[in-house]
Amino acid sequence: MRKFLYVFNKKIKLIIAISLFFAQLISAQASVKVDINIEQPEHHLAQVQLKFETSKAKQVNFYLPTWRTGRYTTLNLANGIREFKAKDSEGNELSWHKVDKHTWQVSGTQGKAIYLSYQIYANELAKRTRHIDDSHAFLDSSAVVMYTKTSRSQEHTIQLSVPKLWKSHSGLVQGENSHQFIANNYDQLVDSPIETGINEHHYFSIDKRKYELVIWGEGNFDSKKMLEDLQVLVQQSKHVWQGYPFKRYVFMVHATSGARGATEHVNSTIIQRSRFKFSERKDYLGFITTAAHEFVHTWNVKQYRPQGIVPYDYQQENYSNLLWLVEGSTSYLQYQLLLRGNLMTTSEFFTALAKRITLHMHKPGQASQSIAQASFDAWISEGGDYGNNHSVNIYSEGFLASWLLDFDILDKTDLAKSYRNVHNQLYQQYRLPLGYKEADVLEIVEQVSGEKYQTWWQENIHGKTKIDFNRLLAKAGLKMSYAKAGNDKSGNKPKAWAGIKTTDGKHGLVITSLEKNSPAWHGGLTTGDVIVAVNGLRINDKDLSNRLNDFKPKQSVTFTYFRRDKLQTTTLKLAEIAKNKLKIIPLAKVSSDQKAFFKAWTGIDFPKNK
Ligand SMILES: [Zn+2]
Repeated sequence: MRKFLYVFNKKIKLIIAISLFFAQLISAQASVKVDINIEQPEHHLAQVQLKFETSKAKQVNFYLPTWRTGRYTTLNLANGIREFKAKDSEGNELSWHKVDKHTWQVSGTQGKAIYLSYQIYANELAKRTRHIDDSHAFLDSSAVVMYTKTSRSQEHTIQLSVPKLWKSHSGLVQGENSHQFIANNYDQLVDSPIETGINEHHYFSIDKRKYELVIWGEGNFDSKKMLEDLQVLVQQSKHVWQGYPFKRYVFMVHATSGARGATEHVNSTIIQRSRFKFSERKDYLGFITTAAHEFVHTWNVKQYRPQGIVPYDYQQENYSNLLWLVEGSTSYLQYQLLLRGNLMTTSEFFTALAKRITLHMHKPGQASQSIAQASFDAWISEGGDYGNNHSVNIYSEGFLASWLLDFDILDKTDLAKSYRNVHNQLYQQYRLPLGYKEADVLEIVEQVSGEKYQTWWQENIHGKTKIDFNRLLAKAGLKMSYAKAGNDKSGNKPKAWAGIKTTDGKHGLVITSLEKNSPAWHGGLTTGDVIVAVNGLRINDKDLSNRLNDFKPKQSVTFTYFRRDKLQTTTLKLAEIAKNKLKIIPLAKVSSDQKAFFKAWTGIDFPKNK
């Protein structure tokens, strides 16, 4: 009996396997045709037509995602769809109704190919979802193309009809003409935005891979310099990962106004910057750092990502305790590429590091939330005062956790291994469609280091450990300093501090942010209060710090302010803050061990004394 059952089970398994194979074959042949007609770009409008394969079901749900990859928050993508129509191949209209904000249910579909048409309104540049104007269109298909449960795995052919002089670019493979692209499936389609319009296009090849740079907009950029540096940048990934997950990669740049930020995609990125924020060194550094960040994502998140976001569920939030590893570690690894490629000097790196430490030291939120909790709640995270005082940030605190882990592994392995090895192992062992769990990351860290990490993980990822930055920096021969450049021996010279930031409002100084447990916090002030006088005298400064320079730490000061039109006063005792900006500098004496540590960490030599 048992043997019979075994053989029977085996037969069933074989039948299932064969039918699955044929089902896959059929669905591999099936395809969706997408036509996007940009006929009124000046009004931000396009007409979308979709043709779906013959349906077996009596009714079909057509969905638009509720978020787009790379931005962990729900977006109103379905707002902007009008004139929705569904027809069969004979042109008969099919009845439909909306089930929820992003689902259109079409009936009478059995045995019929389905043709959808709708208009999209695309006027959201900064969200990097869909934007159309008279000079270009940027289309992330998650905000443009609907899908069904079956069409998600099917090939998509996307044909654009655009004004005459426009040129179209995407990470997708080009089809029969220069405005046609092919995606293997819906996931690839939505992770390969299209930039079409009047644009600059450059390319280069390295290591049998083609790289493209597409720039839309005018500004003070130097595309020659950008190309030179991108060529260097793309060669640095070998210091972290063995192998490339692409044959072609496209850097898309918007030089524009009113939008800044960037998003990673499967073999492309979209980087938005203010048009005149390219030429000065600090601005350019911002551009190349962003390019490095997005390029790191090509591996970290586009090739391996936490189980909670594999596969992407476009209908709802995708939860994971590990978003800090997705974003914070990417922010950490970006410097590995920049330093090793000599695209950033050590002194620029120290400045960036000092900025991150300063930010962290004024972020009381670390006492309220762990980075694992912040990862899980990324979908509902808030910025501003509440974010700073009661939350941590998956980017900045995720960066610090990655740094701590890197130094710990370097330490424990006598510089033989680093956090870079952990990422290469994640790439080698957990490539999509797999997803990794926290236990998997922990196991890799333990494999790489040969040490136990359970306690470390609990303390630093799920706990709220305080970081001793000087102890950390000393390993690499560095320290924190508040001394001015040159011969200034003043060091950490304090100045009076209230813990608030203000902006010049119509009727006084409006409090824009306030640090928890600062003098202002204890004095009962809050954001939105309008300060009109200090110690009974009207404040005429545009900035509160000018006025506070007249006081000393520990001095008591009376603030007069309006709160919801009512005049009030409070007295607070000023605290102290370092007068100068924090800097990272070499220790007075640096040992050869510390220099070796620095080299193992950054890939470059310890800076020589000037
Ligand atoms: Zn990122």
